[in-house]
Amino acid sequence: MVSRVIPVQAFDLVIFGGTGDLARRKILPALFRRHCAGQLPQDARILGAARGALGSDGYRDLIRDALQNELSGADMAARGAELERFLARLEYLAIDAQARDGWAALKQMLGCPTSDRVRVFYFSVGPALFAPLAEQIWTHQLADDQTRIVVEKPFGHDLASAKALNRTLAGHFDESQIYRIDHYLGKETVQNLMAIRFGNMLFEPLWNSQYVDHIQITVAESVGVDGRASYYDKSGAMRDMMQNHLMQLLCLIAMEPPAKFDPDAVRDEKLKVIRALEPVEPHHIVRGQYALAEDGEGGDEDQSYRETVGDPRSSTESYVALKAHISNWRWAGTPFYLRTGKRLVARSSVINVFFKDAPHSIFGADAGRHANLLTIRLQPDEGITLKVTIKEPGPGGMRLIDVPLDMSFAQALGADIDGAPDAYERLITDVIRGNQTLFMRGDEVEAAWAWTDPIIAGWTSRGDVPKPYDSGSTGPGDADLLMRRDEREWRGINP
Ligand code: NAP
Repeated sequence: MVSRVIPVQAFDLVIFGGTGDLARRKILPALFRRHCAGQLPQDARILGAARGALGSDGYRDLIRDALQNELSGADMAARGAELERFLARLEYLAIDAQARDGWAALKQMLGCPTSDRVRVFYFSVGPALFAPLAEQIWTHQLADDQTRIVVEKPFGHDLASAKALNRTLAGHFDESQIYRIDHYLGKETVQNLMAIRFGNMLFEPLWNSQYVDHIQITVAESVGVDGRASYYDKSGAMRDMMQNHLMQLLCLIAMEPPAKFDPDAVRDEKLKVIRALEPVEPHHIVRGQYALAEDGEGGDEDQSYRETVGDPRSSTESYVALKAHISNWRWAGTPFYLRTGKRLVARSSVINVFFKDAPHSIFGADAGRHANLLTIRLQPDEGITLKVTIKEPGPGGMRLIDVPLDMSFAQALGADIDGAPDAYERLITDVIRGNQTLFMRGDEVEAAWAWTDPIIAGWTSRGDVPKPYDSGSTGPGDADLLMRRDEREWRGINP
């Protein structure tokens, strides 16, 4: 049950970039919640590090404000009494990742690594600083075999940069010490994909190209790129979402059953899926960029993508949809349609597994036919729906209709789901416990880039310009065409 809390062992966690947006909005609120849940041992220490001269008191003030902003009123009312006790765990050091400043003080504060305390360095800084941080930690002899590093996304910009970063990290740390974050993997419902597939007898025998017509994976965002414009314009949806989050969902949906739920068994199977992906044909991929909606409404949304990034000629995609094929015995012939985009009609992450029609209808053509559809909602309203065919009630012969077997996890599990840790809570406690199952391995990341790079290179060489789509819509019309050519259609974005 969600309420079972097993405290983690004593740790020292150093958050490089401890004053940044991610630390304030995600990492420290996650640690605070685990503190309140009683999962952090008394002597666990959290040390924020960045270049600013804040001092520990200034840092505690900064994080107090951040927590008060980030946590809901109800959360704070329930947990406010713990706030000062949590803040007392925090220290701050001014450190420059690219200079000598602060490193000796950090070494003194941490002392020698010991076997009874886990030491974690969290790289919550821009990606250009990942390699310098690894070098600094090594140069200043701050790590031993038990030390772990957590590396935020993006892990590389392409295959060459991901390989170079992997090489640098591998020069100082064993793979078992490197935790590459894809926060999607920490989401309760994403882990549920494995429970649904491998905890039930019902689905797995049908989980192959003989019974599955096609699979759709949609990760839609209603927000635009506001606040991340300069980073995003150099990245785009393919790098920012498809190469990592959607690829991870694809792996979990398509992989063979691992022999056990252990880090390498799971990651080996995911890697096989990525390596079995065929190159994507140029006409099987659609890029889009949001424009103003026809009515021009939407508040902050009153800006097109190009206006937000301040470049009237930007050709970065804020939307991508593609058809992927996995060349293996299980999936040959079953297309996977993946799409993700910003400023779409709703925020929703959902996987739809479309089963094939029954091979023969005993009821005749007039009765109608309905294939089964399994919908796995990752957000919002996590749950699953299975469409099954039944007889339409009433006289007039046998006519078939489909009805949903619908389960919302919140309803089925009641209050328990509210207490479930969020992605960062789970991932950080997994790092302290030394469990890498929900983190990407170096070879997985490289394989994902090896599949992504030629797609992006193709766009560049062809001078491809993304198709505009209305803010608040379901994306560019060409994405519908992609489906219509296969006599299929996207399932609605609104779950
Ligand atoms: P941010 O708000 O720009 O914060 C960057 C942090 O790094 C600040 O604390 C900054 O403080 C520190 N820093 C910058 N240069 C430094 C240096 N030379 N030495 C030591 N510290 C330095 O960035 P962020 O949004 O928190 O993102 C951090 C990382 O998380 C990035 O890799 C990002 O891609 C990833 N990420 C962020 C989010 C998000 O929602 N924010 C989501 C997913 C992934 P000083 O300038 O005072 O040094």
